[in-house]
Amino acid sequence: MRVLKFGGTSLANAERFARAADIIVSNCGQSDCSAVLSAPAKITNALVAVIDGTIKHGEATVEVNLIEKIFTDLFNGLSELEPAFDSAPLFSKLERTLGQLRQYTHGITLLGQCPDSIYARVISKGERLSIATMEALLVARGYDTFVIDPVKYLVSLGDYLEGVVDIDLSTQNFKKAPIPAGHIGLMPGFTAANGHGELVTLGRNGSDYSAAVLAACVRAECCEIWTDVDGVYSCDPRLVPDARLLKSLSYQEAMELSYFGAKVLHPKTILPIARFQIPCLIKNTANPQAPGTLIGQDTGEDNLAVKGITTLDKLSMLNVSGPGMKGMVGMAERVFGAMADSGVSVVLITQSSSEYSISFCIESEDKALAERSLEAEFELELKDGLLEPLEFIDDLAIVTLVGDQMREAKGVAAQFFTSLAEVNINIVAIAQGSSERAISAVIPDGKVSEAIKACHENLFNSNHYLDVFVVGVGGVGGELIEQIQRQQAKLAEQGIVIRVCGLANSRGMVLNSRGVPLENWRDTLGNGSEQFSLASMIQLVQRNHIINPVLVDCTSSQDIADRYADFLAAGFHVVTPNKKANTASLAYYNQLRKTARKTRRKFMYDTTVGAGLPVIENLQNLIAAGDRLERFSGILSGSLSYIFGKLDEGMSFSDATKVAKDNGFTEPDPRDDLSGMDVARKLLILARESGMELELDDVVVEPALPPGFDQSGSIDEFMARLPEADAYFNKVFDNASAQGKVLRYVGGIDNGKCVVRIEAVDGDDPMFKIKDGENALAFYSHYYQPIPLVLRGYGAGTQVTAAGVFADLMRTLGWKRGV
Ligand code: ADP
Ligand code: ASP
Ligand code: MG
Repeated sequence: MRVLKFGGTSLANAERFARAADIIVSNCGQSDCSAVLSAPAKITNALVAVIDGTIKHGEATVEVNLIEKIFTDLFNGLSELEPAFDSAPLFSKLERTLGQLRQYTHGITLLGQCPDSIYARVISKGERLSIATMEALLVARGYDTFVIDPVKYLVSLGDYLEGVVDIDLSTQNFKKAPIPAGHIGLMPGFTAANGHGELVTLGRNGSDYSAAVLAACVRAECCEIWTDVDGVYSCDPRLVPDARLLKSLSYQEAMELSYFGAKVLHPKTILPIARFQIPCLIKNTANPQAPGTLIGQDTGEDNLAVKGITTLDKLSMLNVSGPGMKGMVGMAERVFGAMADSGVSVVLITQSSSEYSISFCIESEDKALAERSLEAEFELELKDGLLEPLEFIDDLAIVTLVGDQMREAKGVAAQFFTSLAEVNINIVAIAQGSSERAISAVIPDGKVSEAIKACHENLFNSNHYLDVFVVGVGGVGGELIEQIQRQQAKLAEQGIVIRVCGLANSRGMVLNSRGVPLENWRDTLGNGSEQFSLASMIQLVQRNHIINPVLVDCTSSQDIADRYADFLAAGFHVVTPNKKANTASLAYYNQLRKTARKTRRKFMYDTTVGAGLPVIENLQNLIAAGDRLERFSGILSGSLSYIFGKLDEGMSFSDATKVAKDNGFTEPDPRDDLSGMDVARKLLILARESGMELELDDVVVEPALPPGFDQSGSIDEFMARLPEADAYFNKVFDNASAQGKVLRYVGGIDNGKCVVRIEAVDGDDPMFKIKDGENALAFYSHYYQPIPLVLRGYGAGTQVTAAGVFADLMRTLGWKRGV
């Protein structure tokens, strides 16, 4: 005998029902088979809502109508699909059921409550209608069927809503009245009878358990759970799209996974089938060819230490503590005895080694019950101060790793907790079963998605997602998007998925949590109607529980720089070539670093100085290694490097500036370069990086113009006036030349002071040869002296800058790929 169970989603409409019938029929050709059915999707929830609605509002017409509609559509759909299908008796049965429901609602209204015995009868109506429908369908196809009434066959203990079936007693019933040979057995899931022969339910989602119970009672050769996914995955595939499909699981692994929340199996399912070593297959009704997941004696061939990650939410933690706990024998027994007596199920327990406290998690809805029974049990101890007042922590969830082979693997727990830390999750408590098959962490409820995603990325070495929001899509930003587009496929092969989830410029914005398609991104952005809003980006990340969001600011805007702290606090990494944040007040500079540390996010700005040259990174490495910056000099502006280099070749200052401007080497307004402020900002960034506590005002800036030169007017007016500067530069140049020197626009740090100015440098100076737009940075440090560490190369250009931003972006991935 094979037992097949079909869940609600597999029976949600006529097509799926017919497909389930196909699967049953093809199985009964191989050997005897029985099917256990759930109610069609949404029905049980609607039945629960009928009761809730009646208690709250005295009626539940909407819910009753919904139930009627789902079944009416189902019957009509099946009549269309299968001409021999006789729907008339089903419509009568539906009418009777709806009539009963209305009577129950009437009774519930009069009582003002719904006793559990009635509750169980109401919420199990859907399964009965499912069975009647399947029976009609199989009869229409010419098969003999036998309906197994669980109230007659399955004997259960426990209350009306959480029955536990006694397999031995129930087996006797199957022996007394076996399923007739050659008949397809059909049993409604979710129900059984108590010792008085009254209907009870087996807990929500309990039809899996019904199937396991039937399989155990008839000693089936196999139990198949047909559902809407290809099998058991390493975690809920709705949360992690690249969750791994498991080939096999041991009974114990399956038990832990379902106990700790994997909805694909009801937690009570495994025990009955494990007892008789019945193999259990999880299969997809919509994809019957897929092999599914086999649950059996061994962990099987997946060869994974961690097989799955699950979560349970809506929990509260209760802390019983006090001086009276220490060394007192039987405390734990009394605590958990009180819980058991009041019917509160304890999900997880931890005890501090000092024995000063016992903490445990329960479902939040049991909180009041737990509190009452503990207060009664420990009335005296609480009064005498031997126990502290009971303490509750609400809104918690448990994340659990499961795997038989974790006991042999090292470092799993470390990776687990590091992953949680990476997404800034505070662990409230941890517990590991003595079997070492499961490790659990109690965390805040709102962080479950982030926890699962981060753990899965790190523990399964699966795809790592970088979800990027690019603000400013001009030169550097635009080039960055092109570079990302070109690299996406190659990085995806290495398991790094870069999605551009947001694109924005001052005119508009497009957001898409799954990534904006980049083929025609300029059109997409141009045609978008959404207003630019940094707040919407933060909301998108929070709503979609994105774990690795990165703000890439390619503007030069002060307003956006002023919001970095908000972004870091909201869990974004920030990557930018914009100098404004790092040259704002020292207080803000420090706040950014503090926030980034607190939220474990990265603030990356290597392109703010020297564009693509690895300046900041090298300087940080030196300082971290104990070096000290003693002196610095550098050519930090590509445009001024070009202009002053041209003077060496005999070109006049005004001509050099014009040529630079015409070639696009300067800002549109060359005064932005000549003012020296851009160099001053870069110098300040370097100074602060080296530990100097300076403000922008502290940097002495002499513009790259004759002293007092008139900088007013439009760009054209200024350019027309510029030849008036030539005489000054000719003179200064000639003086320098006479001493074998050249003029350079240099940013220098010396003796704790930052100065930006024109300098005459001789042939021994590292700046002497720097021209044609090249940058050079000479670090005279404690380790590097008397010859400085010199970095030189092009310090501007959209391509190299974008590539530098790209490199920073990649560095925000805080993981190490496993081997
Ligand atoms: P059914 O209606 O067939 O009983 P359920 O909705 O109860 O189906 O269970 C199947 C669902 O369980 C899947 O659609 C999936 O979203 C969810 N699920 C949660 N965790 C897992 C997991 N680890 N593997 C597979 N599915 C899971
Ligand atoms: N229909 C019941 C429920 O939704 C049982 C089941 O589907 O497993 O809880
Ligand atoms: Mg289910």
